[in-house]
Amino acid sequence: MTRQRIVTYDSPILRKHCEPVAEINDKVKELVASMLATLKRAKGLGLSAPQVGVNSRVFVLDLSSVSLDFETMAFINPEILETEGEQTGEEGCLSFPGLFLEIPRPDRVVIEFTDRQGERKEIVAEGLTARAIMHENDHLNGKLFIDYLTPGDREMISGKLKKIKAAS
Ligand SMILES: [Zn+2]
Repeated sequence: MTRQRIVTYDSPILRKHCEPVAEINDKVKELVASMLATLKRAKGLGLSAPQVGVNSRVFVLDLSSVSLDFETMAFINPEILETEGEQTGEEGCLSFPGLFLEIPRPDRVVIEFTDRQGERKEIVAEGLTARAIMHENDHLNGKLFIDYLTPGDREMISGKLKKIKAAS
């Protein structure tokens, strides 16, 4: 399994629109397995391919630390079909170590995606799972959670962003 490095804020790949995955082959399965291992090691809830330097429409979730019966999930070529409601809560990102921000997200999402076995699926997610899905899905479109801040709030965290950049 490839040991991956998580790229941090200001890495150009975090601003790219990622490419769809053409087929679920061994390379994609290996990418998913490595991403899940990287996510576990980093003690995060979600991780997207661009965060490990891969320009593909893939993200993984592992909410087992907050929900005991949660199985790890891989979302390949995801499409958000519907969003509903609103929730505001604190959110972090493995590409912004130590930064936590209050971000508004839909409370419920319907998402279609291809799973690790190559099967196309549709699920409904709520609460924290919906939040994690929206955060990771944004990464595939080059969007980051700091983009939701007002210019004033962005200004307030500029010192923290500089520190993250300097440490990377
Ligand atoms: Zn993130």
